[in-house]
Amino acid sequence: MTTILLVEDEPRIAAFVSRGLESAGYTTVIVDDGAEGLLRALAGDIDLVLLDVGLPTLDGFDVLRQLRAHGSSVPVIMLTARSSTRDTVEGLDAGANDYVAKPFTFEELLARVRSRLRESATAAGVSVAHGDVVLDVLGRRATVDGREVELSAREFALAEQFLRNPGRVLSREQLLSRVWGMDFDPGSNVVDVYVRYLRGKLGVHHIITVRGAGYRWE
Ligand code: CA
Repeated sequence: MTTILLVEDEPRIAAFVSRGLESAGYTTVIVDDGAEGLLRALAGDIDLVLLDVGLPTLDGFDVLRQLRAHGSSVPVIMLTARSSTRDTVEGLDAGANDYVAKPFTFEELLARVRSRLRESATAAGVSVAHGDVVLDVLGRRATVDGREVELSAREFALAEQFLRNPGRVLSREQLLSRVWGMDFDPGSNVVDVYVRYLRGKLGVHHIITVRGAGYRWE
């Protein structure tokens, strides 16, 4: 599931964009205020932000600067009111990944959305995040709510399987073969033991037991 946050205070534009994105298979969240948009973008479950410039409480440039200052690398496409060079330069300086000048056609916007999401999917090989849990795959470091947590190599590999497949049931057999390799005894309870370890380290509420099927990351 790909979730797009739309920060736009013009109800007609918000409705038009959101309807199009939903029918293209994306989940959308609409916020009509800058400060609220910033909080929502920082919540961690957003894959891409469409950000208007003229907004109540905080304008789009301020939202973007604060978002980057908080360390967020979520892709952001600015919706600039004019195709003015000043807006474009200021947006890119503040850390925007792209911009679309109003008025735009939906196809134009969708093409930008798809291409920015594709780029970030490539970069996502480096780090995976879900909710408050972040795995830095290259550095082999895990953090929960910003605090670093020590994980063994197996724990890390298991956590990575869950974070790359959030909301999906993973069977014990799948987890055994992906994390421990095929040579492991399928009757072994090692998966259950390691799920217990992970619950202890990452928080008990993330991994749900699905009776008779396996485990699911919530
Ligand atoms: Ca506006």
